[in-house]
Amino acid sequence: MDACRGTRGASLREQDDAVYLNFMKTHTCYDAIPTSCKLVVFDIKLQVKKAFFALVANGLRAAPLWDSKQQRFVGMLTITDFINILHRYYKSPLVQIYELENHRIETWRDVYLQYSNHFLISVSPKASLFDAIYSLLKNKIHRLPVIDPESGNVLHILTHKRILKFLHIFGCTVPKPQFVHKPIQELGIGTFRNVATIAHTASVYDALAMFVERRVSALPVVDDQGKVVALYSRFDVINLAAQKSYNDLDMSMQEAVRRRSCFVEGVMKCYADETLDVIVDRIVKAEVHRLVLVDRGDMVRGIISLSDLLQGMVLAPAGIDSLLS
Ligand code: ADP
Ligand code: ADP
Ligand code: AMP
Repeated sequence: MDACRGTRGASLREQDDAVYLNFMKTHTCYDAIPTSCKLVVFDIKLQVKKAFFALVANGLRAAPLWDSKQQRFVGMLTITDFINILHRYYKSPLVQIYELENHRIETWRDVYLQYSNHFLISVSPKASLFDAIYSLLKNKIHRLPVIDPESGNVLHILTHKRILKFLHIFGCTVPKPQFVHKPIQELGIGTFRNVATIAHTASVYDALAMFVERRVSALPVVDDQGKVVALYSRFDVINLAAQKSYNDLDMSMQEAVRRRSCFVEGVMKCYADETLDVIVDRIVKAEVHRLVLVDRGDMVRGIISLSDLLQGMVLAPAGIDSLLS
């Protein structure tokens, strides 16, 4: 009798834990697409420099790549590609980055694809949001084009931000699971060890090297005492294209942070004893990809990224071990 009650208790808890998993399984990518949005496509014959300027001019973070010979989409161009080009070819402020001036997207891809994704990773509008989350995390990418299988058109580029925002808006139709009331560190959602940070006196080139070598999406900028004073994300690197300052990567982080145009005031942070519920609310409202976990003295103790939240809230209840290591 007791064993039976115990089993029922466990299964009720599993059902409660699976609320967001079920939500994502029962909504499609099409459901999460906004009614209107801007989409720019680049032909792979375009010069890389022009492509990055076009991203800036259109206020975009990424674009699908079209191969007119094959008549299909073959990949994505993102700010990470801009970072990889600068990191690979930068020599000094006195030497122009010849490859940025002359490479076409296709020639750059010939070099880069030896080390990276060969194919476009995409999703159908009819696929579930669960499939989209799995693909984003499994492939360690931040941009997932939704492609209509009939027309072959890209309808939208899904991101972690869009998916969590969708859950935040429409998830109120389902009861909140109990685990959202637990502290974030107790849930083990986030990275709490080996956090990659950068000193405010380090150069932009040092930051690019960390983006490439550690493959992190952002770096908390710390002062001489180790306190967080700013956040520099891969997104911020596009400012170097906007301001045509990519020839001076010896510039300090302090200067780069001061010069960038940024919509977020200060650093968006959280504490280890704050609940998941509070953290999700803060990250969605701030429209940022991560919060910096600090102690009461502002020392960096961790990173809570949208990837961690989707892993913990959706993939873990499906029995999928972390895809983030
Ligand atoms: P960012 O965070 O700068 O937007 P990503 O992490 O999404 O960039 O991209 C990492 C690398 O993977 C880049 O070289 C990018 O071109 C590539 N990439 C991104 N999305 C896709 C995709 N859907 N299919 C194939 N490659 C992709
Ligand atoms: P993306 O939409 O490409 O994921 P991010 O959220 O990484 O972009 O960055 C968008 C802007 O928000 C950048 O200027 C970045 O510095 C800023 N930002 C991101 N996370 C934080 C944070 N935790 N605190 C302060 N600013 C942040
Ligand atoms: P993201 O690329 O931000 O979607 O996150 C992928 C994984 O990297 C998550 O587990 C993050 O917690 C982790 N991560 C992000 N930024 C950092 C960083 N600066 N140092 C260590 N881990 C990080």
